[in-house]
Order: sequence, then C-alpha cells, then structure tokens
Amino acid sequence: SKTILLKNRPAGKPATSDFETIEENDPKPEEGEILLRALYISVDPYLRGRMRNEESYIPPFQVNEALESMVVAEVVESKNKNFQTGEYVSGMLKWKELQLSTGTGLNRVDPDLAPLSAFLGVLGLTGLTAYLALDKIGRLKPGETLVVSGAAGAVGSIAGQIGKIKGCMVVGIAGSDEKVKHLEEKFGLDKGLNYNKEENMADAIRRICTDGVDVYFDNVGGEILDAVLQTINKDARIINCGAISTYNETEVPVGPRPEGILIKKTALMQGFLVRDHAKDFGKALRQLSEWLKDGNLEYDETVVEGFDKLPEAFIGLFEGRNVGKMLVKV
Ligand code: NDP
Repeated sequence: SKTILLKNRPAGKPATSDFETIEENDPKPEEGEILLRALYISVDPYLRGRMRNEESYIPPFQVNEALESMVVAEVVESKNKNFQTGEYVSGMLKWKELQLSTGTGLNRVDPDLAPLSAFLGVLGLTGLTAYLALDKIGRLKPGETLVVSGAAGAVGSIAGQIGKIKGCMVVGIAGSDEKVKHLEEKFGLDKGLNYNKEENMADAIRRICTDGVDVYFDNVGGEILDAVLQTINKDARIINCGAISTYNETEVPVGPRPEGILIKKTALMQGFLVRDHAKDFGKALRQLSEWLKDGNLEYDETVVEGFDKLPEAFIGLFEGRNVGKMLVKV
C-alpha cells in the first residue's frame, strides 16, 4: 500500500516534486490495534505552515516522513474490543492508504447522519471553524454587514450562509466570476466580489457596503484585509481565521498600519484557532446538523479522485481550484 512523504520543504508555492509516494508492506494489527483504510483525506491550507521548519501551535512535518491531515477511514480489521470491522472513523491520520491505530483520538462517524465526506467539511473542522469563530468573535446581530473572504471555500462558504441565517447583509469575496455567481445564486449572499477583477478593493468594499462593515471574517489576510479595514464601523469585529494569501511568502509582507483604524473605530481584531474550542464542538455540530436538515445550510465539495492526487489537490488550494471543501477520495 502507498504512503506520501514530504520530500522537501517547499520554497514559496509548493510543487509536486516536494512530495514522494512510496510503496510499503501492508501493516498487520497486533492486540489492541485496528487496521484502517483511508476513504477520504482532507487537504487544508494550514498544512503549508507545517511544511516549514518552525515552531507553531502544531509541530512541523519532518522531511522523508508521512504527512498527515484529517481522514475518514474504514476499520478493515480489529484487534481492539472498542472497534468493529466495517465501522467508520475520523481523525488526524497519516497520508497512507492503510495504517494501524490504537483508536486514541479517533471519532466514530455515522454514515446514516450525512455522507462520509461531510465529516471533513461542514460537519468537520471547517464547519466548526465557521460556526465557532462567528459565535466567539463575530457575535452577529441581525441587520449588520458581514464581509467574508475566501467566501467560496470550505470555511468561507459556511460562514457566509451563517451570516444569512443570522439576518445579516453578507458580502463574499472570491477569486472568479463563476465563484461570485455561485455565492449569490446558490448560497443567497447579497453580493459577491471578484478580487481578481476589482482594481481597487477598498473602493469596491466601500461602494457595496453602504452601511459599513460590522464583522469581517478573514480567511486570506494581506491586501484584502487592508482594504476591508478601510470601511469598518464603530465596534467592528475582525476575525483573523486564516491568511492564505501570505502562506507561500518567503518574507513577511508589509502593508498599511491598521492600529489607527482600530483605535478610531474601537474595533476588535482577534485570532481564532478551532482546536482551542473542542469543548464546544458538540453544541456547534448539533446546530450545523439541524441547519443542514432544515435546508438552511448547503455545502459544496471539490472531490479529487485518487490517493496519488493528494499533493495536486493540496497545491490546488493556492490556485483557487476548489469550491467548498477540497477532498481526496482514495
Ligand atoms: P478554502 O476551501 O478556502 O481553500 C482555499 C481558498 O483560498 C482557495 O479556493 C482560493 O479561493 C483562496 N485563495 C488562495 N490563494 C489566495 C490568495 N492569494 N488570495 C486570496 N484568496 C486566495 O480553505 P479552507 O476553507 O480550508 O480555509 C480557509 C482559511 O481558513 C485558510 O486561511 C485556513 O488556513 C483557515 N483555517 C483556519 C482555521 C483556524 O482554526 N484558524 C481552521 C480551518 C481553516 P479563490 O478562488 O477565492 O482565490
């Protein structure tokens, strides 16, 4: 069976040559272990950070070792009394077709509740990120204006729809006209903005957000963040969820200083890490599942087929190749 290793630490944008697929003997479970077969593997922008040799909130990947991310897997053999053959689990697992586990850190997933892939997206960490960041920092009030960047992506598409559920005017920023159309037509956002087409993003935001911006859900950082800050209202909340536009930079980019605006507007700008909110996952998942069941929430997936395509799917995140959650079906 196959494993994908980090071959080199990428310089700038990752390339397929930074990864290597190797063949290994199939593992055999010992007493207390289960054998897992990966079905769906999540690729996520933050994995880029783990490819740098830097201390962070999560340890860096090591060169010539298997990568890992969230995976939905099937138990194909069990020597652990807590797991039955044929059950499905999700967890932080290696980029391996087959692997052993003791079951620690795994969650059972119920295929009757939602399609298995949804547990890596809307009912996984990306749905939780959208919900909990808005709950903890955004604190949306009806009638407020919410701007979301990366709005057609996994986190952004859920965040925008939650804004509509909460009765807000929602503006979504994405990288193509097709994505903008999709945001307006499928997800019911009030307005989409294509950042690749606008000459001056600050002017475009000002033109559309006639009542100013109360909450900015930022997935991209950089120049789009600089632009949105120009139009924030008094007591605005800015959620620093992600900064994908800077992840491949080799030097930290500099921009206009935000502190003057934050002071004048007594605005709150706060970083968010979903992993710090595990105690609220249950409550958040119940709400997300309810919205899904009622038809208030929809989700998209971009499913790339084939284990070998993991590096390409990951690199595709930096090229905007996905709508909704980017996944690999093994
Ligand atoms: P997405 O599904 O949003 O995929 C990434 C998207 O980012 C692409 O589709 C692309 O869309 C956009 N993008 C890529 N490069 C740029 C760029 N240079 N400028 C602007 N947009 C760009 O990924 P996720 O939903 O998984 O993650 C979104 C963000 O949230 C990431 O920054 C991620 O790191 C962060 N995150 C943070 C978490 C936390 O706990 N803080 C948890 C999960 C995610 P387009 O075509 O519109 O350019």
